[in-house]
Amino acid sequence: METKRSQELFAQAQRYIPGGVNSPVRAFRAVGGHPLFIQRAAGSRIYDVDGNGYIDYVGSWGPLILGHAHPQVVAAIQRAARNGSSYGAPTELEVELARLITEAVPSIELVRMVNSGTEAAMSAIRLARGYTRRSKIIKFDGCYHGHVDGLLVQAGSGATTFGIPDSLGVPEDYTRNTISLPYNDLGAVEEVVSKQGEEIACIILEPIAGNMGVIPPQEGFLQGIRRLCSEYGIVLIFDEVITGFRVAYGGAQSLYGVTPDLTILGKIIGGGLPVGAFGGKREIMETIAPLGGVYQAGTLSGNPLAMMAGIETLKILSQEETYRKLEEGAQRLTEGMKAAAEKVGIPTFSTRVGSCFCTFFQEGPVTDYASAKRSDTQQYARFFHTMLAEGIYFAPSQFEAGFLSLAHSSEDIEQTIAASTKGFKAALEGTP
Ligand SMILES: *Cc1c(COP(=O)(O)O)cnc(C)c1O
Repeated sequence: METKRSQELFAQAQRYIPGGVNSPVRAFRAVGGHPLFIQRAAGSRIYDVDGNGYIDYVGSWGPLILGHAHPQVVAAIQRAARNGSSYGAPTELEVELARLITEAVPSIELVRMVNSGTEAAMSAIRLARGYTRRSKIIKFDGCYHGHVDGLLVQAGSGATTFGIPDSLGVPEDYTRNTISLPYNDLGAVEEVVSKQGEEIACIILEPIAGNMGVIPPQEGFLQGIRRLCSEYGIVLIFDEVITGFRVAYGGAQSLYGVTPDLTILGKIIGGGLPVGAFGGKREIMETIAPLGGVYQAGTLSGNPLAMMAGIETLKILSQEETYRKLEEGAQRLTEGMKAAAEKVGIPTFSTRVGSCFCTFFQEGPVTDYASAKRSDTQQYARFFHTMLAEGIYFAPSQFEAGFLSLAHSSEDIEQTIAASTKGFKAALEGTP
C-alpha cells in the first residue's frame, strides 16, 4: 500500500499544527505509523490522498450513520448554503430540528443547540449546578464527555474522594468537586450518595460507555442510578452524544427504559457538521438564559447548514426498518469476526449494542475502565495495520467504538470478516 502523499502531508502538517492534527487520536500514536490524509468519502468508503480506498468503520467517530456524503444530506446542505451560512438570528430550521429531537426523545421537553458535544456537556453541568444550587458532580472512570476542565478526571483506585486532574492546565480547584467512580459499580454510587447526596448536583454518564471501547450497562445499573437521583434530588444526565439516534431512534434511554433529567446529544444530530445539543425537563431547562439565571450562548449555535444536515439525517433515520437493518448488519459483522478470532485461536472479548461494537484483545469480561485497560494494545496495533493494508479502516486505538452505517453492504461485511482472519493471525503471531 502506497501512502507517500499522506506521509508528505503529515510532515508538512507538523510544521503548522501541533502534532500535525486537530484532535489527538487522529495522530495514530496508539497504533504507531502515520495517519492517512483523507481526500474524499462516499457511502461506506473513505479514500486517502494516495488514492487508496477503505471500508470505513470510524464514520467520523459516529456521526455518519447514513454513510459518507449521503446524496440527500449533501443536497440539503447545498440548499441551505445558497441562503447564507449564518445570521445570528432565529430560523425555522432550528425549530424543525428541535421538534424532531423532542418527538424522538420524550424526556427532552426543551432543547438548546450548541456547536459540539464538549460544549453541550459543559453547559448541561452548569445548568444542573444552577438548578440544584449544589457543586459536586459524579462521573465514571473511562466515560468521556468532551474536554471540559472539570471532567478531565481519572480517579485513582477506588477514589471516592476529590478528583485529581487528568490534564496539565486544569487547576485542582476545578476538579475538586468531581467524584469519579467505576462504571457499572452501583454499590460505589450508593456509598457516595448516601453520605454526600445533598451536595451532589448531577450524575453524568454514558448510558452505554463508548469511549473505552464499547461497554454496555449491566442489568440494574442505570435503574439504580435513576432511583438514587430521584431520592436525593440529583439531576441525572445521560451523555448520548454517541448513543443518541445510534442504538435506537430514541437513544439508549428508550432501549433500557430509563429516563434521565437531561440528555446531551451531538454527532448524529449534526449529520456530519459541527453540532451539539442538551435538553430535558422543562423545569430544569427554564433555568437557562434568557428565562433563568444560568448563562449560556453561542455565535454559531443553531447554524442553518448544520440544522439542515441534522434534519435530513433524522428524517432518513426515522424511516421504518432503519435500526433493524443496522442491527442485523452489525450482528453479522461481530459474529463473523468473533468466529474468525476463535478459529485463529486468539482470545478476544467482543461487545455490541446495535451498530456500535468493539473487539477487546483479551479474554474479558470487560465491564469497566480497569478491565478494558487489560487489553493487549500491541495486538490491537498489529490487527489495525493488517486490516488497513487489507483496505479496512478501524479506529486507530483499542479504546474506541466501531460503527456500522446504513451504507455498508453485505459484501463490505463479508470482505471485513474474511480480512479479519489475517488481522487476528498477525495480532497473535506478532508479524506486522
Ligand atoms: C464525542 C463525545 C463527546 C464530545 O463531543 P465533541 O463534539 O467531540 O466535543 C462527548 N461525549 C461523548 C460520549 C462523546 O463520544
